[in-house]
Amino acid sequence: MSSFTPVPAVGLASLTTLGVGGAAQWFGTLTSVAHVQEACAWAGDRRVPLTVMAGGSNLVVSDRGVQGLVVRVAIPGVQLAWDGRVLRAGAGAGVCWDALVAEVVAAGGWGAECLSGIPGSVGATPVQNVGAYGQEVSQVIEAVEAVDRGTGEAVTFPLGECVFAYRASRFRSADRDRYIIVGVRFGFGREAGAYTYPDLTRELAARHVQRPVPGDVREAVLGIRRAKSMVVDPTDPNTRSAGSFFLNPVIDRAVAERLPELAGGEIPPMFPAESGRVKVPAAWLIERAGGHRGMVAGRAGISTRHTLAIINRGGATSDEIVDLAVNLKRRVVDRFGVSLTPEPMFAGFGDDARMTFLQKVEG
Ligand code: NAP
Repeated sequence: MSSFTPVPAVGLASLTTLGVGGAAQWFGTLTSVAHVQEACAWAGDRRVPLTVMAGGSNLVVSDRGVQGLVVRVAIPGVQLAWDGRVLRAGAGAGVCWDALVAEVVAAGGWGAECLSGIPGSVGATPVQNVGAYGQEVSQVIEAVEAVDRGTGEAVTFPLGECVFAYRASRFRSADRDRYIIVGVRFGFGREAGAYTYPDLTRELAARHVQRPVPGDVREAVLGIRRAKSMVVDPTDPNTRSAGSFFLNPVIDRAVAERLPELAGGEIPPMFPAESGRVKVPAAWLIERAGGHRGMVAGRAGISTRHTLAIINRGGATSDEIVDLAVNLKRRVVDRFGVSLTPEPMFAGFGDDARMTFLQKVEG
């Protein structure tokens, strides 16, 4: 007998950090693997679409709401223990990511300190291989545990089968919408990494930290993120966002070499990326194409502290948010021929033509 009983007509805006959008036709909170399996069966039996959310920090919900069943994966539980030189951790998908990072740091584990202050839950981190300041979650993942939505089967993906790449994984590409992640297993190290990102090295130097312990790096990263309003804070209107709205594009070298001419002689920061390609900050492109911090577009806008954060200035609709994103993407395509890819997930937009443009990858 299934114990899964979803609730009808639940407003989703307050369950997201951006705070826009309508209601789920049906909604349920899932706190165990069995519960996830029951929800998959419930949706399958009724042939209704199933939409998965977690912390709501990387999600844009349509004003028209979301048809079918929306589930929030809230599986709790953290196990943490040193095993020789490896700090092994297992966490339920619903565990707050930053709470796990704080525990790992307090236990003296290395490998997640640069990922401090990233909002959202553990289960969301493998999907886009969350990264910051030179660390990526794939560097510390040992396995991802999931449930196949179609069959309800529990599956474990060892690291080598997750197909991780820059802000990407099989869960966001080939197997998008196929699995629900229910837990993640990690292995953290005993040795410090090398920190090369200028923001971080500057901050550590300003704090007179020469031989950091994990907690020093965590505090430095939190300091940088707070200064950019990238730590969710209900008292800071700049954080009413879905985080960075666009990925930093990885482009062909030939395209990158044309950028200075198109930018009137300014040279963008460029970083070597996979397959001989080049990574360029999305914020640099947006700013040279006429977008700017503090930009206002009705009740939507851009954070006054971070060009990549589209914010809800108060009472915004999802249409206002999406229209601003389309505007920024259009500007960058027109000026540089580079097509920015949005980072958040979208729910309830159906075949909205603006989504087709926003999701288009090639430039
Ligand atoms: P930022 O630090 O101003 O960096 C902008 C861009 O420059 C990023 O593409 C970053 O690469 C790159 N970069 C800077 N120094 C680099 C170095 N030494 N080597 C290689 N690449 C370098 O970006 P921000 O927007 O303020 O974000 C801070 C950090 O949080 C960045 O690492 C960003 O990627 C990360 N972040 C991640 C997510 C996510 O995982 N979903 C969301 C928001 C921000 P990387 O992108 O490779 O770091």
